[in-house]
Amino acid sequence: MDADVVVVGAGPVGLLLAAELALAGVRPIVLERLDSPAEQPKARGIGVLAAEALRRRGLGADLHREHERGLRALARDHGTTKTHFAWIHKIQQDAADPGRRGALIEQPALERLLREHLQGLGVRVHHGCTVTGRQEGPDEVDLTVETSTGSRRFTAAFAVGCDGGHSAVRTLAGFGFPGTPPLMTVRYAHAEIRDRDLLPPPGRLAGGTLFHDDGLIATFDFADTAPGRSALLSADEVRDSVRRVAGADVEFVSFHGGLRFTDQARQAETYRRGRTLLAGDAAHVHSPNGGQGLNLGLMDAMNLGWKLAATVRGEAPDSLLDTYTSERHPVGAAVLHNTRAQSALLAPGPHVDALRDIISDLMDLPEVNRHLSRLLSGVAHRYPLPHPAGHPAVGAHCPPLTIDGIVSLDQVAAGGRPLLLHPQAKQIDTGGRVDAVQIDGLGDERLAAVLLRPDGVIAWAAAPGEDLQPAALRQALQTWFPATH
Ligand SMILES: Cc1cc2nc3c(=O)[nH]c(=O)nc-3n(C[C@H](O)[C@H](O)[C@H](O)COP(=O)(O)OP(=O)(O)OC[C@H]3O[C@@H](n4cnc5c(N)ncnc54)[C@H](O)[C@@H]3O)c2cc1C
Repeated sequence: MDADVVVVGAGPVGLLLAAELALAGVRPIVLERLDSPAEQPKARGIGVLAAEALRRRGLGADLHREHERGLRALARDHGTTKTHFAWIHKIQQDAADPGRRGALIEQPALERLLREHLQGLGVRVHHGCTVTGRQEGPDEVDLTVETSTGSRRFTAAFAVGCDGGHSAVRTLAGFGFPGTPPLMTVRYAHAEIRDRDLLPPPGRLAGGTLFHDDGLIATFDFADTAPGRSALLSADEVRDSVRRVAGADVEFVSFHGGLRFTDQARQAETYRRGRTLLAGDAAHVHSPNGGQGLNLGLMDAMNLGWKLAATVRGEAPDSLLDTYTSERHPVGAAVLHNTRAQSALLAPGPHVDALRDIISDLMDLPEVNRHLSRLLSGVAHRYPLPHPAGHPAVGAHCPPLTIDGIVSLDQVAAGGRPLLLHPQAKQIDTGGRVDAVQIDGLGDERLAAVLLRPDGVIAWAAAPGEDLQPAALRQALQTWFPATH
């Protein structure tokens, strides 16, 4: 075998997955089609759960620095730092869940950060390697890879397609990818416009939505719904789209390319077929509205990393890997659902104008604002764990904690190990598979003790005054970190 796991794609999801695998002591290889990292601006930030996960891996200081920069850029570009639902910028994330913060970071900067993190773990990315073929045997997966010096094969126990929305791994392994076709095509172009005054003001128009600013023009074009084009965005294409959306002819003094994407919403039927798995955009595509793609994909990687590592090490029953689909598929489906709603709210016409006015008014109600904030962040989502104990936090991602008033959870979680934070930790036999930390308090009035999986999910918890060594704790230890199988 060339590696325990071949990770296909060095986008943010592939990079984080490889890092999680390496942290857990298995050998990943990362294969990337591009000869050098992409610098294309896409996402401008990551959601609460992904930001918390990266802080737990020691990347908090870098995220904080980028966040300060991102806040200034967001205020400049949108006139507000509130996030949006269907481009109605009213969502106050900090108010919904105080103390739980996402991080504004441009995608190329995030990828740089993750590459350095991965490099620090001794894993390098193999650039210029395009996966074109796959064969699966009972104990291994063979991938055919094209490089500038010819084709070669990589063999590993598992392969994970983190190769984006047009995933070759998904197609080669025969994953179904059902969903809904696009309602619109979005184009962002970097261009200097001649006579910008001749354009209508930015906003909703008869054919969609038009944005323009110094050096930038964008259309949400509801008259163009053809998915799957791969040609580079051209000035003529943008000009035609502006004509359809705004009924205006635009001249460019200069044109520097840009991005085209649609709001088609599709999701793999399952995230695992035998020894081949999918994560990130390879597993789900949807419109970027609400900025959820990275949060979703990075949390796929967090969920999958430790489970795949335990499977490779022979420490887990096969069923553990299947919980990757059963836990993550509903989360992806929920994101597709809300992005479809946002697309509907962006359609042109007086009926949707009226609906948007009503939604905008509703968003002024704190409860609605909180609901939408949690919808976009995924903070309220709980996995249906097999032994639901009484504590309402079981199955949720752990909020930031301060141990004994001084040590943050981030300081004890960097190694990626399961953690038992417990006032009687020394008396509990975890079989060496869990780091048990003796604590006096967790700085959270709802929690006296917690068992955390490496992805930060609460596998068991006790509230103050509850039994601290119930059968549920032993069950949770045996379910997630079994002594034998
Ligand atoms: C304009 C825009 C704005 C966005 N804004 C946001 C936002 O604000 N917030 C947010 O969360 N998300 C946003 N997104 C979505 C976000 O960018 C994606 O969800 C994210 O890039 C997915 O990461 P990934 O690693 O799964 O896939 P990708 O980033 O697509 O990475 C896949 C990698 O696989 C490589 N690859 C492909 N095929 C092969 C092959 N056959 N062999 C080897 N390598 C291969 C590719 O070269 C690429 O490097 C936005 C997207 C766009 C387009």
